Amino acid sequence: MDEKLRKILENAHRAVFFGGAGVSVESGIPDFRSPDGLYSRQFDVPAEEILSRGYFDAHTEEFFRFYRGRMLYPAARPNAAHRALARLEAAGRLRSVVTQNIDGLHQAAGSRRVWELHGSVHRNHCMRCGRFYGLEAVAGCTGVPRCSCGGIIKPDVVLYGEALDSRVLSGAARDIADADVLVVGGTSLNVYPAAGLLRYFSGKELVVINKTPTPADRAASLVLTGPIGSILGGEPGREEAAAAAEGPQKQ
Ligand code: NAD
Repeated sequence: MDEKLRKILENAHRAVFFGGAGVSVESGIPDFRSPDGLYSRQFDVPAEEILSRGYFDAHTEEFFRFYRGRMLYPAARPNAAHRALARLEAAGRLRSVVTQNIDGLHQAAGSRRVWELHGSVHRNHCMRCGRFYGLEAVAGCTGVPRCSCGGIIKPDVVLYGEALDSRVLSGAARDIADADVLVVGGTSLNVYPAAGLLRYFSGKELVVINKTPTPADRAASLVLTGPIGSILGGEPGREEAAAAAEGPQKQ
């Protein structure tokens, strides 16, 4: 881990990590706004439109073709950044992860308190009877996924034009407001209301880790430019390694 960041986190008691798609790029999942991100590719319909609730309702089959092909990465595994954040939580330094990602990789790495602002590909519900389905029900079929009752199975992923879950939003806002350190990483901070959560932070250290400049850089006490896996990852400190070896702690 970067030395300056390590020092800041060593003194932290209620740090929060706020992240986005850049965190999972090193796991092989493209982000949206990098030069090789999803928004740079030419589709017949712009990706932002396909990922909207209006498009889902009007063109359900096309939505699922795009969603399966471009948004689902069932083989992706956590990278060094996800693992470092899980170790920090186990060591009692990090209170929670607030993520815009929908891939579930923070939980796969062992993070326990994760606020998924935009939902998760791992949760899906029948729009008619409400029955729950895992990722496989959507990833493992073709066309529109159907419940045994005949209803459409919809991913619990927040599409453009849909509201964020108010319980998740307020939980994330509370953790950020209570945080002594906020680490923002792998996000362009372009998507609202998620990016607006940063205004709740009033702690002492704001750290930004990103490959490209962000609107939060000016207010940050430390800006680290580069791949988040090598900045956050690397060899764990002794305390973190011991905590990780003990496994998850009860909160
Ligand atoms: P974004 O694409 O707008 O921005 C990603 C940022 O990460 C960019 O600024 C880029 O420079 C930076 N970045 C890329 N690779 C990096 C790396 N290895 N290390 C450090 N920084 C890196 O993504 P966003 O801000 O999260 O907002 C877009 C939306 O994308 C979110 O709503 C999210 O739901 C969705 N999304 C999620 C996933 C996922 O779940 N993995 C993937 C694609 C998009």
